[in-house]
Amino acid sequence: MTPIGRFAPSPSGRMHLGNIYTALLSWLSVKSRGGKWILRIEDLDPQRSKMEYARQIEDDLSWLGLDWDEGGIDGIGPNGPYLQSLRHHLYEDALAKLKATGLCYPCTCTRADILATQAPHESDGRVVYKGTCRPTYLQSIFAGGRRTETVVPYQEKPRAAVRLMVPDEDITFTDRIKGCQTVNLASHCGDFILRRGDGAWAYQLAVVVDDALMGVTEVMRGDDLLLSAAQQIYLYRLLGYTPPEFAHVPLVCNESGVRLSKRDKSLSMEYLRANHTPEEILGMAAHRAGLIPKSASVSLSELLGNEKIMHYAL
Ligand code: GLU
Ligand code: ZN
Repeated sequence: MTPIGRFAPSPSGRMHLGNIYTALLSWLSVKSRGGKWILRIEDLDPQRSKMEYARQIEDDLSWLGLDWDEGGIDGIGPNGPYLQSLRHHLYEDALAKLKATGLCYPCTCTRADILATQAPHESDGRVVYKGTCRPTYLQSIFAGGRRTETVVPYQEKPRAAVRLMVPDEDITFTDRIKGCQTVNLASHCGDFILRRGDGAWAYQLAVVVDDALMGVTEVMRGDDLLLSAAQQIYLYRLLGYTPPEFAHVPLVCNESGVRLSKRDKSLSMEYLRANHTPEEILGMAAHRAGLIPKSASVSLSELLGNEKIMHYAL
């Protein structure tokens, strides 16, 4: 099977070394095995996404030599379009399928309503939806991991978010880098949103539809999304798709040990490109990934021959 990987940036700003690190590892993982690399632009958020950032992302990737076989703004390839903002019809189809399972319901809670239901120990910033709007007919639908009731059609409600009920059971998967993970969706996030009340699509739904329809076999991305893989696996199951392999790489941190953000100007592509060659920047990312002993110029072909990439490309 040809490995198919992807890079799925949100065009909400200029990339930084952390984005390059993820892109490079994902590119090396599939390219070292004769695979294909897709560039998908995740521009679902109309407030934060800008076309000029998407163009800049393409320009930065090309300048580094991280070429994609499929995708991009111009949408080269059979599974386009590759901009999420042009894929609404596909998310509509998936939502209809999910509604047909009987597990979806409208939710009119505000963020304040949801925060008011949180227990004090959930102060790590994670918000768990407690099922406030869940209809009573859904309360006993999962028993022993099996569906127990007949499907009740989804009741449309204007301006309501669409939520998907999750089972109170463990989802187990093996991440290529982080190993075996067990997540109980009921305690991790609770019933989650597929489409917001304002009509915006949830990342979880869009990413699953896109990765499945684009034939992606491996999802390599930052480990801030490790646990959301469980939500995605649940969606793959309900939609009848085979999940890809997941590989979550550590996030790149700044000198204070904090995850890189737009404020770390010295590691932004704007600064890096003004002061370094592509090979030097690839070297910085490769060094942080443990592929080379120190941060020095390195070419993509040298990295493709590097034995240590096997840690990322199993
Ligand atoms: N668009 C997401 C981001 O830029 C990546 C999502 C993913 O790789 O699944 O953080
Ligand atoms: Zn609600």
